[in-house]
Amino acid sequence: MNETLDVAIIGAGTAGLSALREVQRRTQRFVIINDGPWGTVCARVGCMPSKILIEAANAYHRRGSFAEFGITGAENLKADVPAVLQRVRRLRDDFVRGTLKATEGLGERAISGRAHLLGPDRLEVNGRELRARRIIIATGSRPIVPAPWRDLGERLLTTDTLFEQKDLPARMAVVGLGPVGVEIAQALSRLGVELVAFDGMETIAGLTDPAVNAVAVELLRREFTLHLGENAELAAEGARVRARAGAAETTVDRVVVALGRRPNVDDIGLETLGELDERGLPPVDPGTLQVADLPVFLAGDSNNQAPLLHEAADEGHIAGINATRPTFARFERRTPLVIVFADPNVAMVGRRFKDLGSSGVLAGEVRFERQGRARAGQHGHGILRVYAERYSGRLLGAEMCAPAGEHMVHLLALAIERSLTVHDLLRMPIYHPVLEEGLRTALRELASQLPAGEESDLAVCGALGAEALD
Ligand SMILES: Cc1cc2nc3c(=O)[nH]c(=O)nc-3n(C[C@H](O)[C@H](O)[C@H](O)COP(=O)(O)OP(=O)(O)OC[C@H]3O[C@@H](n4cnc5c(N)ncnc54)[C@H](O)[C@@H]3O)c2cc1C
Repeated sequence: MNETLDVAIIGAGTAGLSALREVQRRTQRFVIINDGPWGTVCARVGCMPSKILIEAANAYHRRGSFAEFGITGAENLKADVPAVLQRVRRLRDDFVRGTLKATEGLGERAISGRAHLLGPDRLEVNGRELRARRIIIATGSRPIVPAPWRDLGERLLTTDTLFEQKDLPARMAVVGLGPVGVEIAQALSRLGVELVAFDGMETIAGLTDPAVNAVAVELLRREFTLHLGENAELAAEGARVRARAGAAETTVDRVVVALGRRPNVDDIGLETLGELDERGLPPVDPGTLQVADLPVFLAGDSNNQAPLLHEAADEGHIAGINATRPTFARFERRTPLVIVFADPNVAMVGRRFKDLGSSGVLAGEVRFERQGRARAGQHGHGILRVYAERYSGRLLGAEMCAPAGEHMVHLLALAIERSLTVHDLLRMPIYHPVLEEGLRTALRELASQLPAGEESDLAVCGALGAEALD
């Protein structure tokens, strides 16, 4: 393969495969290079195995509410953790097989090996130099593990190794309570592990609204021990690990480190592209994914802009199209959306509370303790806060720790994407009895702070003040 390729894609994760789909439509002179196992982080060690584990943990946890429903015998239920973990791997393998289809039949255009950039149109892999008119870097990210902790060996787990465990020990710690740490900590605890969690900050799961964060912390504290606001230190203690944060100290069998992820760009030769910022990243235009003014694109977790699956897929799509066009198309990016699969779901959409500023913004709130449908299903916990512009009533964003938050946040994303106002959304039908009636309560609280609507507008139809009816 001595000719100049049209496109070289580095990394066959979600972003790389999404780029591949677009590139393949327009040229056959491409390669896709992947270091390590093929099959994407999402399917192998990320979104999918974590959600499979969470589903099992939540199913087992549900037994705690059986007595209240009038169902007896819950105390006899047991979680067979090795079987739970086997199911995680079985389903995970199936999902991985699905992703491998994308590169089947590519022959020598699919290269296993670690690529290094030699410049904006040259790279090296397995000792071979390749030339390409356009290069897409989609090398993903890896868990951050502080160097001194690596000596803890197999006492220390990350999401790269957790799902390979054949069983879980009696006592574990999770260090780092961002989205991944919260999901994993709650799942492990619900499967019967005695769990202690640490985070150096007071906020968890990426939440920025203090009222929502307080509810999320309080709900998790009912399930396991949380130490917030002090950085954890770890040290080996025989076959176990001693974890300390401020005055808190405990010994556990294993620690899951969930301190976030680092883009895989540190040793791929990015410096050959020009100046890098303090994080070692070049300037990347989020609308085109172009690096500076070069024929190079940086997509997915590797650019660290929005390290989420749907964003990686979008970015691969954008990079794949632009890498095969003479001039680059600028894409309008979607409304920001994050879901943390805790129970109740933590979710954020549109503008974050911390970015709203102090004036010109209204907030409406609902708590789910008294919400009819939530009570019927023993889901009566959580809070949802919606933000809107004061002068126009336009919806700006929301943060929540709420039952069915993963669904309500999509409804809000649609509304925000369409620039809908509080009254526009209140004009939509909401069935009864559903959890979305809780969202409507928060919207009505917002509406009460806005100029009154027309009497003839159903958006102003108010609550009856009875939880069975609202
Ligand atoms: C536990 C966990 C749970 C998650 N849950 C969710 C969730 O619920 N929802 C959500 O939206 N997101 C979730 N994410 C994030 C999501 O998985 C990532 O945003 C997404 O997988 C990133 O895809 P990517 O294509 O950028 O990178 P990857 O899928 O990591 O692909 C990058 C590929 O590039 C390869 N590579 C690296 N360096 C080189 C090199 N020099 N040469 C060649 N190849 C190289 C890597 O080996 C890898 O195969 C989760 C992540 C984790 C870890």
